[in-house]
Amino acid sequence: MNVPVTKLPPRFVPNDPHALLALQANELLRRQKDSWTQLADGYASLAQVQVKEIQCDGFTVLLQFNPGRMVSTSAKVDPKSIRERRCFLCVEHLPSEQEGILVRNKFLILCNPAPIFHGHYTISHILHRPQAIEENVRDFLILAKEMGPDFTVFYNGPQCGASAPDHLHFQASPSGAIPVESDALDANRRRNRAVHEEVQVFSLADYGREAFVLEGNRIESIESALRRLIDAMKSVFPGTEEPLMNILASYRENLWRLIMFPRSKHRPEAFFLENDKRILVSPAAVDIGGLMITPLERDFQRLDGPTIEGIFHEVSLSEDQSDRIFKAFA
Ligand SMILES: [Zn+2]
Repeated sequence: MNVPVTKLPPRFVPNDPHALLALQANELLRRQKDSWTQLADGYASLAQVQVKEIQCDGFTVLLQFNPGRMVSTSAKVDPKSIRERRCFLCVEHLPSEQEGILVRNKFLILCNPAPIFHGHYTISHILHRPQAIEENVRDFLILAKEMGPDFTVFYNGPQCGASAPDHLHFQASPSGAIPVESDALDANRRRNRAVHEEVQVFSLADYGREAFVLEGNRIESIESALRRLIDAMKSVFPGTEEPLMNILASYRENLWRLIMFPRSKHRPEAFFLENDKRILVSPAAVDIGGLMITPLERDFQRLDGPTIEGIFHEVSLSEDQSDRIFKAFA
């Protein structure tokens, strides 16, 4: 499964060190829309999606009806199903039309053929290795900086949203496309929780789900703060597995901002109900960040404020659990 860099097919070319990575990603997308039918169809389908604003108690959610996301939303991500399927992120299994930008001989920037955004990328490791944040914090932060101020890079934990929990990957979305990115700047929501080295740590109040914000301008400090936060989560929820989380990372004006959603579970009970009772939502970073995706028109019509509040409440930690995490963090 492991592909030495030298054996990568020639359509995966190193990034140009003299040009902004964001521009190269935009160019890749433009070129791939011409050369790869599945991607062109995905973007044609994105042009047709419907979006509506749902007012919830204390916050607003954008609901996107996106039939192109059916495969991802309903994907089987249990260990047995994952073991038995062919990994779709391994280089040798990528569609023959797919090109990629090789970054630091480690990651491939790939166009996502089932986009949620106009400019939706998967950033996958060139080797088949597990989705995990702790070993890869530094790369996550570097990728956020390399993608530049026009993009946000995000991570879904192996048990809460990653559709390939066995293959390390991040995603990139256009900056500001996920509501929490602006909500996290609202001074009225910010509650000071801690300062670690010079990193400021906040939580967001009255937000219907728990969200932690870390801001700092030194990579060593922000990395150390995130590790400390994860350690605090582990001390509150002991176990061998990675605590459930989704994280958005951005780098703008010399500042890293991480927004973490600590989670209690991936999918709400309603996902597993039968027939009409089933609600097909599978909250990962984008959804819990306030852009909820549903591939079914039925759910687009019926999801309302109280239902979404209920889903967020169910898959998030409680305020009390957050308090315990910050007590352990201090
Ligand atoms: Zn793989």
